[in-house]
Amino acid sequence: MSKVDYYEALGVGRNADADAVKKAYRALALKYHPDRNPDDPSAEERFKEASEAYDVLSDPEKRRLYDQFGFEGLNRSGFRGFQGFGDIFSAFGDIFGDIFGGGGGGRQGPRPGRDLGLEVTIDYVQAYTGAETRVKIPRIETCQSCAGTGSKSRARQTCPACHGEGQVFQSLGFIRMATACSKCQGTGQYAADPCPECRGQGRLKRQKELTVQVPAGVDTGTRLRIRGEGEAGQQGGEPGDLYVEIAVRHHEVFGRERFNVLLDRRISMILAALGGELEIPTVTDETRVIKVPAGAQNGKLIRIPELGFPIPGSGGARGELIVALSVATPKDLTDRQKELLEEFAKIEEEKSQDSAIKGWTKKFTKKVKKVLHS
Ligand SMILES: [Zn+2]
Ligand SMILES: [Zn+2]
Repeated sequence: MSKVDYYEALGVGRNADADAVKKAYRALALKYHPDRNPDDPSAEERFKEASEAYDVLSDPEKRRLYDQFGFEGLNRSGFRGFQGFGDIFSAFGDIFGDIFGGGGGGRQGPRPGRDLGLEVTIDYVQAYTGAETRVKIPRIETCQSCAGTGSKSRARQTCPACHGEGQVFQSLGFIRMATACSKCQGTGQYAADPCPECRGQGRLKRQKELTVQVPAGVDTGTRLRIRGEGEAGQQGGEPGDLYVEIAVRHHEVFGRERFNVLLDRRISMILAALGGELEIPTVTDETRVIKVPAGAQNGKLIRIPELGFPIPGSGGARGELIVALSVATPKDLTDRQKELLEEFAKIEEEKSQDSAIKGWTKKFTKKVKKVLHS
């Protein structure tokens, strides 16, 4: 492959001084910068050519070799040029820092779109089973009719006001101040035929409808991140992400503690005393029959594994369904029932006279306090 003469690559004369060389390179680097010409191999080629030319012509020793012996002379001295963009940026980082985004409103390259946030309220059962929900988000998107260029013909020109620099200089006495160019909003590019759809902005405000997959097991406060569904980036920048914050409605029957489903189930004094089978509802509207052990006390917890919420990212593990038993004292007794209970009481009294009063415990104090202050 024949190489382009370095003076030609920069478009400067053989006698150009260091300043002229630097100025020429700055202009070319701006024009062909890869950030600005994504996926454009010819721009990439020009950028590399200009960078190599600048590397040589800005160095007096290399320039002397080149002037005298051409490419051949440089090669023999061990000069290899650049392997890639990384090399170029690390060699001329200061120049690029100067041009791109360094301080006071320089040309603005690709900018990522903003992240968006949204709150979605779902039912308890949806949190248990997982759900698909439609959301509407007002957001800024890339204009489809101009492919984000802002130009009707999809061709952007170098901004005439700032000559592609993205900034304009104002002189205040001997102080030069740079401010972002207002004609091109600091992009350095300008559409002579602005797209009527987006009025030359390249981006549009749209109400976007989106289906959000809510995984089973989420709870109030869970944040889902949906990549790339935030606002569109500018100048070819990446779009932002959408964060969906979940709120779960209360259930009339079930409570929740982490991944456990809680159920308060009343049982009769008789069932508590004798034990037996008990039917309970589940979140998915099925019924289960569980065993109540004989002598179950008020507040006893019965734990049923696998009927709690799925634990996201656990590979299929779930919480438990925890049933708290509330023992109901029978009311409105018939005479016959009273008779039987009195008979029961007599036997009970004979059995357990010694344990009528238990020692007061700290645990019980706590319990009483809780009731008094709730
Ligand atoms: Zn401008
Ligand atoms: Zn447009």
